[in-house]
Amino acid sequence: MMSDTAIQRLTILGSTGSIGASTLDVVARHPRRFSVVALTANSDVDALFQQCRRHTPAFAVMVDAGAARALEQRIAQAGLKTRVLCGMEALEKVACLPEVDTVMAAIVGIAGLRPTLAAAAGGKKVLLANKESLVTAGRLFMDTVRASGATLLPIDSEHNAVFQSLPRGFDGDLASSGVRRILLTASGGPFRTLPLDQFANITPQQACAHPNWVMGRKISVDSATMMNKGLEVIEAHWLFGAPAECIEVVVHPESIVHSMVEYVDGSVIAQMGNPDMRTPIAHALAYPERIANGVNFLDLAAAGTLRFEQPDVGRFPCLALAFTALRDGNGAATVLNAANEVAVERFLDEDLSYADIPRLIETVLGAVHAPPARTLDDVMGLDHEAREQAWRWVARSGHNRAAGTIAAASGSK
Ligand code: NAD
Ligand code: MG
Repeated sequence: MMSDTAIQRLTILGSTGSIGASTLDVVARHPRRFSVVALTANSDVDALFQQCRRHTPAFAVMVDAGAARALEQRIAQAGLKTRVLCGMEALEKVACLPEVDTVMAAIVGIAGLRPTLAAAAGGKKVLLANKESLVTAGRLFMDTVRASGATLLPIDSEHNAVFQSLPRGFDGDLASSGVRRILLTASGGPFRTLPLDQFANITPQQACAHPNWVMGRKISVDSATMMNKGLEVIEAHWLFGAPAECIEVVVHPESIVHSMVEYVDGSVIAQMGNPDMRTPIAHALAYPERIANGVNFLDLAAAGTLRFEQPDVGRFPCLALAFTALRDGNGAATVLNAANEVAVERFLDEDLSYADIPRLIETVLGAVHAPPARTLDDVMGLDHEAREQAWRWVARSGHNRAAGTIAAASGSK
């Protein structure tokens, strides 16, 4: 067990991404508090090498074998002692090393599930950015956390805000804590006010240009479609034991109120701050203490007006699809996630139009029978089946491309 004064030893899964880099930024500000044991990335050799030079971890993992060999060479040339490992098993291994106290789970997509689950099974302090772990395997994940005695702290800004707004020592029972509802805020993304007749022409570049947050490309598209909020509703369900009817989404374009908890006496407790992921990251890293993190302090007078609106599900059908999947049970959420991952990847590759994203997801949700996924094999089996259906849909919708949808999307504005 980690004592209060001991240095906290970290594995950062997905260290070269947006959350990974923000985590290392906070860690570097507190060299006497944190040390880095392992860093991991998919295939970006240069980024992981620079991080190894700066943070001298004992282990660096690359998923791609060729990338791992290239990294090993550069590490040897630089005279560093970091051991380079490769593949999914190595990711799982560094997530549960005995010398590691805390694991930042910041891989994107269901690719993060196995190592994040390994950290939970290993009883680590798990800082959860990889929301897809909870969306795809919520029951299994929460059961694993409870069985191992792991500490689970949310990094998603909304869930971190809810966590901060719940009573200290919240035991998982909202009703006995006097909670009426969880209010998740959503910025509304880049297309909150775009005329609907322009949706057919939306390009990946436009979808990735979030007004308030700088993030990886997948979550940026999810924010544009509001599937991100849908995934977060499911994430909140598992993290806080909240039924669908106790979770409300409120559009708040300024992204200053990061989420709220409403109590039965009418009190609404909110957590606020400038939109900077280093706030939830530092909160979870130091929990229950507080540490500085380089974030600009909030100037409310400069912020001026804070607006709140109801989400427009006609504009954002992905949000409604996620609520449907949550009500249908955890197998449906696994299918929803897989279909969304394929749809976003194909959209980013300009193989599908923006408007195709909800169409593909709705079709796959209807086509795959999704019993509750209890084991990791169940989850991966459902994920696989849903991906196959999604790929079939993409192949069938080839006529869209021929009809010029994509040409229009990537052509004139
Ligand atoms: P990103 O794309 O910037 O980084 C992803 C990281 O995962 C990279 O280090 C990459 O090398 C690694 N990775 C990608 N594919 C992989 C694979 N197949 N196997 C192993 N590693 C792989 O993503 P991000 O924006 O940092 O988001 C990471 C996670 O955090 C996502 O689940 C996202 O939803 C969540 N999150 C991000 C933010 C944010 O502000 N960026 C906010 C809340 C939650
Ligand atoms: Mg979020």
